[in-house]
Amino acid sequence: MERKILISALKDVTDYAAINTCLHEETHRGGVIWEICDTCGMKWADDRGGKPQSASEMPNVIKNAYKILADLEGI
Ligand SMILES: [Zn+2]
Repeated sequence: MERKILISALKDVTDYAAINTCLHEETHRGGVIWEICDTCGMKWADDRGGKPQSASEMPNVIKNAYKILADLEGI
């Protein structure tokens, strides 16, 4: 498969992920125990560990797609 086709497909995937993945950057408190995302409404309970650090990161599969894309573009 041509490299430019691979790059184009990976860009489509990473662009799609960037648009559709909420990184939960703005949150507010709800009640006594809840932290709630202002954008998507996802919520985390303090008594179940609260919002994890990984909640504000792209999923690993998308990070991997970015890495492969950078490698392909660097060739
Ligand atoms: Zn969110």
